Amino acid sequence: MTLELFRNNSYLKEHIAIISDVVPEGLVFKETIFYPEGGGQPGDVGSIKLKNKTINIVGTKYINNKLVHLTETIDDIKKNEEGSLILDWSKRYSYMQVHTCLHLLCSIIPYPVTGGSIGDGRGRLDFDLETKPDKEDVLNKLNNLIHKDYLVHISSITDQELDDNPDLVRTMSVKPPRGSGQIRMVRIGDDIDFQPCGGTHVNKTSEINLVKSVKIENKGKMNKRIIITF
Ligand SMILES: [Zn+2]
Repeated sequence: MTLELFRNNSYLKEHIAIISDVVPEGLVFKETIFYPEGGGQPGDVGSIKLKNKTINIVGTKYINNKLVHLTETIDDIKKNEEGSLILDWSKRYSYMQVHTCLHLLCSIIPYPVTGGSIGDGRGRLDFDLETKPDKEDVLNKLNNLIHKDYLVHISSITDQELDDNPDLVRTMSVKPPRGSGQIRMVRIGDDIDFQPCGGTHVNKTSEINLVKSVKIENKGKMNKRIIITF
């Protein structure tokens, strides 16, 4: 198993890592700073600087339970070789900002989330909701929360604690990761938002750029899509 360093520190931009496996799609490392595609967030891109060459990493995702850094070539790359993993930080930081802002959106629209997606400078959530919220109102509330500079805390609860408090799960389409006995929790401020999440976030809401526009689309009687752009 790859040690996922981004879970405890999402601000690591460069890290020296050892290749633990070479698979047809790319490379597996003993530890990594690259986030694998999941929960609506794209897998990280960047590069790996080896002794004699630098190879682009065009994506990161789990394949057959291995955290694979997708590369265009695996020629002449050997297991146990050491290299410097370098993240495309501007892209990842944008995902962290958008992702954290989607938590704020969750707090403003207190309805179940049925889907979502995180992009570079934009994101969306789908809500199980009949009436369209007012988009100017959503925009003002989001920017107010961003401006207030709430801290983002990472903690954990047990599987049992989550079973006892099913309301903590806001996203119906993404199941909290179970198996380790502990569920990673994300809290914003004291009571702005508190839910299971394995993604990457900024440390405080003032790091999020102000939201430029909010668009709300009807995706069925009980489904409203809210798209935010920065
Ligand atoms: Zn999150």
